[in-house]
Amino acid sequence: MSDNKANEPKYLDTVPSGHAFGIRVSDVSMVYRRGHAQTAALDGCSFEIPEGSRTSLIGPSGCGKSTLLRIVADIVDGATGRAAVGGLSPRQARLEQKIALVGQTSGMLEWRKLTGNVALGLEMTSVPRKERLERVHHAIELVGLKGFEDRYPHELSGGMRQRAAIARALALRPRFLLMDEPFGALDEITRLRLNFELLRILEEQGTTLLLVTHSITEAVLLSDRVLVMSPRPGRITHTYDIDFGHHRTAELREDPRFLAHEARLRSALLPTTTDTERSAA
Ligand code: ADP
Repeated sequence: MSDNKANEPKYLDTVPSGHAFGIRVSDVSMVYRRGHAQTAALDGCSFEIPEGSRTSLIGPSGCGKSTLLRIVADIVDGATGRAAVGGLSPRQARLEQKIALVGQTSGMLEWRKLTGNVALGLEMTSVPRKERLERVHHAIELVGLKGFEDRYPHELSGGMRQRAAIARALALRPRFLLMDEPFGALDEITRLRLNFELLRILEEQGTTLLLVTHSITEAVLLSDRVLVMSPRPGRITHTYDIDFGHHRTAELREDPRFLAHEARLRSALLPTTTDTERSAA
């Protein structure tokens, strides 16, 4: 075995030079280790996301989507490769509060009212109390929860709780919003309504979105670009640009170009019968 340091992997807080904006991930790999057990989650993932754009990550369950998102958010250690968020390392971007992450569950504290829950992230920052309150109320308004400020989580529906989680992230005024299946637990109508609210909010705030989703329709509806991942260890196998601009309506889902994007993504994700038959032969 060579002990040449130059061959060692570069750890993730190395910022690629000359890339000041957006998100850039270069050759990122990740192996989870527990005792002697190892799980290779990601294998050489690379992609770029321009600032102000919306990108979805889609792929089979367990392919490493959440891991990739968590690496960009700097909440998981041990990845190799390079990543930059707004020209900073993920760590620096997190410390400078450029990033907010919305997870699969709302993560609300049952003993806090809505305002207290939305304020949670901000309380860990140096933002003065008066500005914190202003931001919390603005974020609550943005997600359509005005009038529910004094409600406890058990008094809110699933959709309202997810809106609250989004409000908590927005109150941080992040340049980069990372979302991990934020609408997965919701019924279809609520999900669709929140999809459009998210588009409106992103437009108002000029926020860059990186979204993990299982839904092909959601990926096409929300994104400028969709990244398709292979089964674990995840790699980016396809990149599709979705050129519908930023003003999208529910009718877009019936547009033949929308249906064609969905079909293309579906065939990238699912082997066709012929492929299956061929590999079984
Ligand atoms: P996805 O989001 O695509 O479903 P994940 O990123 O959650 O995939 O997981 C990718 C792989 O890494 C899975 O095999 C999962 O079991 C494994 N994994 C995820 N988190 C951990 C962890 N903290 N420790 C060990 N293995 C993990």
